[in-house]
Amino acid sequence: MSLARLPALLVLLLATLPGWALAQSGSQSLTVHFFDVGQGDAALVISPTGKTVLIDGGPPESRAHLERRLRDLVQGPLDLVILTHPHLDHLGGISNALRTVGARRFMDPGFDHPSEAYRDLLNVVGDEVGQVMKPLPDPNDPSSLLTIGLGDGAALTVLWPRVPEDPFLKGTRSDPNSNSIVAKLTYGKTAFLFTGDAEPDTEATLLRKNIDFTSTVLKVAHHGGRHSSTAAFLAAVKPQAAVISVGAKNDYGHPTAQVLERLRAQKAQVFRTDLDGEVVATSDGNVVSVRAERRGSNSLLVAGEVTSDAVARGPITRGTRKASTPRGRSAPSVSSDTDTRAPTQRGASEGRYISLKGSKVFHKASCKTLKRSKSERTEYASRGEAMRERRPAEDCHP
Ligand SMILES: [Zn+2]
Ligand SMILES: [Zn+2]
Repeated sequence: MSLARLPALLVLLLATLPGWALAQSGSQSLTVHFFDVGQGDAALVISPTGKTVLIDGGPPESRAHLERRLRDLVQGPLDLVILTHPHLDHLGGISNALRTVGARRFMDPGFDHPSEAYRDLLNVVGDEVGQVMKPLPDPNDPSSLLTIGLGDGAALTVLWPRVPEDPFLKGTRSDPNSNSIVAKLTYGKTAFLFTGDAEPDTEATLLRKNIDFTSTVLKVAHHGGRHSSTAAFLAAVKPQAAVISVGAKNDYGHPTAQVLERLRAQKAQVFRTDLDGEVVATSDGNVVSVRAERRGSNSLLVAGEVTSDAVARGPITRGTRKASTPRGRSAPSVSSDTDTRAPTQRGASEGRYISLKGSKVFHKASCKTLKRSKSERTEYASRGEAMRERRPAEDCHP
């Protein structure tokens, strides 16, 4: 596998889209803002060439703050919005950001979640965003990782999930959390690891893969919840600075003493948005300078220690998973993994979903409405896939 080839695929793809090359800052540095959004996550990446990626949008109550910060920092629409997973403390401000600031692309794990807020968000994505991306490996090279070039050598590599190569994790403490998008942002010798609300199962699955996890700055998983950030995972990441995005006096007891202790044992300098306010990390490719809104002018300088250029150390294999989940590769779709509605009761035709041209809804393949219409059809292999573009129809309730 050629290392240069992976990013090239997407760099090419993104470079051909209008506006992508817009330069927003002249300085050759990469900046990540970890916004102070209370109990939730929202981080903005500004690449050396001015490309912008918002990773999560905080809880609903911080949407005005998020909009303000985005208006301060971003000119024109965001280049990419990533929702790590469909929980409210990560998606609450995204719809508003899409409507007010705008975005060219949206990516989420594609893990279906039966909440009103997530469905509403998908509708807004359908109305406001030009391109919906999935964290799929290149079908021609399924042992690769999806890498998105951000200009001047900066790149974002998605480590998890990798459906359909690796099915979603199931039967974990929280399946939406476990299937959070985990992504590594690299720039020169420095790297940032974004973990969403990843669970120990995610970490264990990732650790079995040929991946270089070394990162200068770690966005600590799940607001410092005690199950995540296992010692084994932290030892692989070797973070020098760790950012915990967390609300003051939250009801969850985040961040937990256990995680703070494990970070201390790893000698990571901890920043917390509840105590430090917004945390801003700037990389020149060699050193990351981390400063916090409420810590005055003192910033922490940490040297990057990422030695290899590639995040993948070799072909990425499927992780071994719990015995309860079949490992067969019968269906190339994500159907059984994204669908939470009694899939066993479905007939063959009901496993498919169809929408009619010009319509905003989708139907079960067996729906009578479809039989009455001669319009052009789009077929979806799974409900999750259909949900990404359309709403369920009122007649057949797919
Ligand atoms: Zn969360
Ligand atoms: Zn969550």
